Parts: sequence; C-alpha cells; structure tokens
Amino acid sequence: MEFGAESGVPADRRLVDPGSGGFEDERVDTGLRPRTLGEYIGQKNVTDNLKVFIEAAKGRGEPLDHVLFYGPPGLGKTTLASIIAAELGVDIRITSGPAIERAFDLAALLTNLKEGDVLFIDEVHRLNRTAEEILYTAMEDYVIDMIVGKGPSARSYRLPLPGFTLIGATTRAGSLSAPLRDRFGVISKFELYTPGELELIVRRSAGLLGIDIDEASQKELSARSRGTPRVANRLLKRVRDFAQVLGEGRIDLELTDKALSALGVDSKGLEGLDRDILRLIIERFGGGPVGIDTIAASIGEERITIEDVYEPYLLQSGLLHRTSKGRMASRDAWLWLGIEPPADAKTTQTSMFDLGGGADDAVDADNSEIEIEYAE
Ligand code: ADP
Repeated sequence: MEFGAESGVPADRRLVDPGSGGFEDERVDTGLRPRTLGEYIGQKNVTDNLKVFIEAAKGRGEPLDHVLFYGPPGLGKTTLASIIAAELGVDIRITSGPAIERAFDLAALLTNLKEGDVLFIDEVHRLNRTAEEILYTAMEDYVIDMIVGKGPSARSYRLPLPGFTLIGATTRAGSLSAPLRDRFGVISKFELYTPGELELIVRRSAGLLGIDIDEASQKELSARSRGTPRVANRLLKRVRDFAQVLGEGRIDLELTDKALSALGVDSKGLEGLDRDILRLIIERFGGGPVGIDTIAASIGEERITIEDVYEPYLLQSGLLHRTSKGRMASRDAWLWLGIEPPADAKTTQTSMFDLGGGADDAVDADNSEIEIEYAE
C-alpha cells in the first residue's frame, strides 16, 4: 500500500491534529477556556508551583518572573498564560514567534506594555535572531538597547521598559537557544492529560455548550482524545453535529462510536496518520528500528510535526518506542493493526499514562536536539 494514503481522508487529519487550529481555532474555543486556576483541570505539577510564585510576586508587588511552558500543542499553555495574567490582575498581550517579523515589531509590543503586564509569545523557539536578542536585555533588565545610525555617527540608546512578565510557549524546550532559555526563571513541562482529567474537561465543555451527552459517551470521548483537551473539545463538537443530524440531539454511546468511527478515530484514539506511521514501521521495516527522518520522508509529513503532534501519544500509549537506533513498533502496535508480531517484538512495558520517561525516550540517534528535563 502507499503509505500516507489512509491519512488522505480529509476530516480525519484536521480533526485530531491538535496543532491545526492555531489562533483561528482559539476564537471558536474562547467560550470553553477556563478563566481561573480553580477551573483549570490537570497539570497539577505546573499549577501548584505557579500558585506559589503568583502569590509571592503579588505580595512583593513585583512582576512575576518569566515563565517558559513546553509540551505538545493543545494542552492548555495559552489558556494557562491568560489565567496567570488574570490571577495577577494584569493585561496580557498574545503573539507568536513567527508573527514577529522584525525586531521593531517586538520593541513596539514591549514598549506598549504596562507595569506588571504579561507578554505571551507562542512558538517562542521560532523568533528570529534579532528579535530574540532584544529579549535578552528586555527580560533581564527591562530595557531595550538600540543602535541608531551607522558608522561613526551611530549612537546607542537605552529604552526603559515597564517591569513585565514574558510567558513563552514551545513544543520543545530543546530547540530554544541557551541564552534565551536561561532567562526564564520558571520552566514547566506540560504532560498529556489522563482520561479521568479529560472526562472532567468534556463534561465541563458539554455543560457550557448545552450538549446533552451521557456519561458513557463522555468516557469514550475522553479515551479517544489522545490526552489533549483541544482534541476532546473538537471531537465533542463533531459528535454533537452527528447527534443533531442522525439522532435526536442526545449523545449516547452508540452514536458516539458511530460518529468517531466515521471520523476515522479508532477506539485507542488513533487516526489515519498514527496508523500510517505504525504500519510503515511494521510493514516496510519489519517493526524497526527506523530513523525519524526516514519515517517523515515516507509519510510525506514534516519531521517536526511527527515529533510534536503524533509521537507523544504513540509513545505514551506504548505503541511506539524510541531506541538509540530509531523508532520501533511495540508488540501492541502489531496486534492493534491485526498483524501477527514476530516472537521478539518488544512488549509494552509502560501502561497508558504511566510513563516514567525511560532511558529509551532520552536516547535518539538521529535526533540532534536534546530533550531537556528541568527540575522545578
Ligand atoms: P496550547 O496553547 O497548549 O496549544 P490551548 O491553551 O490553546 O493549548 O488549549 C486548547 C483548548 O483546550 C483551549 O481552548 C481550552 O478550551 C482547552 N483546555 C486546555 N487546557 C484545559 C484545561 N486544563 N482545562 C479545561 N480546558 C482546557
């Protein structure tokens, strides 16, 4: 078969790719975003510490230290940044690395902030070099150093800035330059959500959207949302469409199952491209190991998309392993695709949502970036 063919089903890809929404999707989703720390479900490791830092900063009457969030898309980084600003009682300006084309754009953003405000930069690893350099002194000393003119007549000016908090978000902390990374006082990793947490999110969203959905369907949706709130919300909305057209409006398990199957989301939450990746490794490379660049080229997808969007869930669900020689499909992956595994196929050692970050995850021969784990 031609690899990548399965993912040709259009609705399939768009639906579960947590990164496909971007800011346009955020507008649709605004009503669903939690607005306070109390409403924010999950990511306890991140929020527990932040509560302390927010309280302390407020107590001192100083801006919160700069914060870096990293982890796969759709896990609530932007949402939490807005909540932090709300908890601090300040305004937030939201932008992204690629949107800041010139250093001037960033300088304009920074000089327009008020004392204590939050500047949120999504995809902060994609800032261009000159903009990034402006951030160094801005973050450290709340100033921008500018050189105006050329040659002997060049003058340097120092522009003071209000005390502000930069919250940067990235899918990978390893692709940030060291000088930028070092200027963040708080670095927090976002994890995929457990099915239990996603169930709470689905219930909350259904309540806000006035969707009549039974408990079994909430559970099913949560289990098939690949650990990602954005996917859970999106699937909920699509199932609602099916309920409206095919059923009587009420969402039950039969309808949920029918809708998700029609959307190409299987009972493990995998979609076309996930299955393409596993099938490629199994059918063309005998289960692996196979390098990520080879996978990317064969599937016709960017390596970074595979690593950031598809792999985290495949790793966490124990279907894929990272070894020093490349990616390998687990025994469960063979069985899931209905293919008889060879006797030596690696058994899944990690249960779903119980990943301890084994040695295999840290080593990756063809991955030049080093995934860093930060102690809080
Ligand atoms: P990211 O910035 O990590 O890509 P977002 O903050 O845009 O993710 O979150 C995507 C959507 O998921 C939000 O619109 C929000 O509705 C929902 N969401 C994210 N995290 C949570 C959470 N902890 N509780 C409830 N809903 C959440």
